[in-house]
Amino acid sequence: MKQLLILSGKGGTGKTTIASSFISLLKQGETPACFADCDVDVPNLHLIFSDGETCLSQSTCFNRRAVIDQSFCTHCGVCEEHCRSGAMKNGVVNPYLCEGCGVCELVCPVNRDGHKAVQLAEINTGDYTVSDTDFGIFSTAQLKSGAGATGKTINAVKQNLASFCGESQVAVIDGSPGIGCPIISSIAGVDLVLLVVEPSLSSMSDLERILKTVRQLKVPAVACINRADISPELSQQIQLYCQEHELPILEEIPFDPLVIRAVNHSRPVVDYDNSPAAQHIRSLFEKTLQHLQQL
Ligand code: SF4
Ligand code: SF4
Repeated sequence: MKQLLILSGKGGTGKTTIASSFISLLKQGETPACFADCDVDVPNLHLIFSDGETCLSQSTCFNRRAVIDQSFCTHCGVCEEHCRSGAMKNGVVNPYLCEGCGVCELVCPVNRDGHKAVQLAEINTGDYTVSDTDFGIFSTAQLKSGAGATGKTINAVKQNLASFCGESQVAVIDGSPGIGCPIISSIAGVDLVLLVVEPSLSSMSDLERILKTVRQLKVPAVACINRADISPELSQQIQLYCQEHELPILEEIPFDPLVIRAVNHSRPVVDYDNSPAAQHIRSLFEKTLQHLQQL
């Protein structure tokens, strides 16, 4: 099975619009496919592809968080000094900032019967689900408010998909925006990354950072420019950058108000025959599949 990951450095560039269109187009073709929503902080694909949904598996997500035992903490401050996330303040752990790295436990000098005054505990942060839908097997996670995606969460969503994918030949993975640990986990092990860029300074800056990560992980990548016509000048700058960095741009998708209508109705934009963006997304789909099949 070939895995295609659709990524963007920032939210709102049209990544899910393209991912949902690809999933819909795969269903119309003859290639058995499956899909995953790794944008687990704000998953959306379940809103679009719930038709015929039957749950195949549900399990609990756990993440590690630091917990201080106040009964023997001496308030020495060593853990606060070493916490790079700023999650420790005056002997209290902020669970929204704690990343469960375990440094505090390592450096804590107070040990009672083999237990440090601060230790990591497993916290229930949400649910993983795998379902059978009219569009193929679908893996995702629904996190509790403030839980935050981790690399481990993303890895589990991908592994769940691999366990249930059956005869699927292509997996479409909607990655999370950003450049942190969840992105590294999204990229690891996929066959091709499709980077969605828009002509804005922030999106261009994110492209540079995300491409560095993709290249470090030695995964082939292609790109597309979404809403390319909203700034022809910036689109040209993206083209130049991509040429210099040997990143093929497969398609330039124009701004199209029908995309907003499709999003509002939780439908893939390729369902709208008269949509100019949909025509370009169909072309992007064909070209991306060709790249994927040649790998
Ligand atoms: S390092 Fe240990 S003893 Fe010191 S403040 Fe942190 S938890 Fe308490
Ligand atoms: S586990 Fe890591 S992030 Fe969390 S409080 Fe300890 S040092 Fe900070």
